[in-house]
Amino acid sequence: MNHLTAECLLPVAANLGEGPCWVDGRLWWVDIERCEVHRLDLASGRDHAWTLPSRVGFAIPTTGSHLVVGTEEGLGRFDPGSGSLIVITRPSSWRPGIRFNDAKCDPAGRLWAGTMACDEQPGCGTLYRVDSHWQAKPMVHQITVSNGLAWSPDGGTMYYIDSPSRRVDAFDFRDGEISGRRSVVEIADGFPDGMCLDARGNLWIALWGGWGVACHDPRTGKRLARIDVPVECVTSCCFGPDDELFITCASRDLTPAGRLRQPLAGGLFRARVGVHGPPGEPHLFRDESATALVSP
Ligand code: CA
Repeated sequence: MNHLTAECLLPVAANLGEGPCWVDGRLWWVDIERCEVHRLDLASGRDHAWTLPSRVGFAIPTTGSHLVVGTEEGLGRFDPGSGSLIVITRPSSWRPGIRFNDAKCDPAGRLWAGTMACDEQPGCGTLYRVDSHWQAKPMVHQITVSNGLAWSPDGGTMYYIDSPSRRVDAFDFRDGEISGRRSVVEIADGFPDGMCLDARGNLWIALWGGWGVACHDPRTGKRLARIDVPVECVTSCCFGPDDELFITCASRDLTPAGRLRQPLAGGLFRARVGVHGPPGEPHLFRDESATALVSP
């Protein structure tokens, strides 16, 4: 197994850093508990943050100039130019105490966004598929902590993590429909959290409570590599340029003694992993209602 290390790129001490997404030289990410959307410009090293009215589970760039965000109020459109947020829709099964967590877009630009109970009560989350007109359809029920999503390079398999299961599950994926759920990876050293896929079709899985990121081949389940991160709760990762993997983590729940042991907790990290992300990633949200607004 290949052992890799990560360097701290930005010692930003996020409370719950999450959801990195690399687009056009910028890294978008969120600090869920601080209700912040961040954009790191790698060339200048400048990180800019916007504070939203409630906790924000994800912020994903769209095919327009805005982002789709999942907040405690529902799904919305966030314009970083003006800082404005418009809540567009709430899934029909929405209720207080539930919030959006991790999300990602499939190769056709549909948004897949999961929810969880704020108190992590088992089985209260749902994974929704959101189409280009913001219609949210529940696709997987009885989730506890909806987390990582990824699609195989041929687009025929969707990978999904409900963290307390300590598994990565796979579904057959065709035209936005899923079937044939099965377990493909089991994690013993921590809880699987966010993940991304590389150009060889292997999964890079953040380990909450596991001090690192694990790389597994989902076709065999076998671990191929591990990135050590000097922070206990690693939350997610995404590919940037070349073979760089960006990694987010949390400083939440640390005692004063824990903060001394993990001075870089909540920072943004980077590791060179010797393989690129898949061509064509990341998938952006295809927002057709927005397109109609700006170009009738
Ligand atoms: Ca997560």
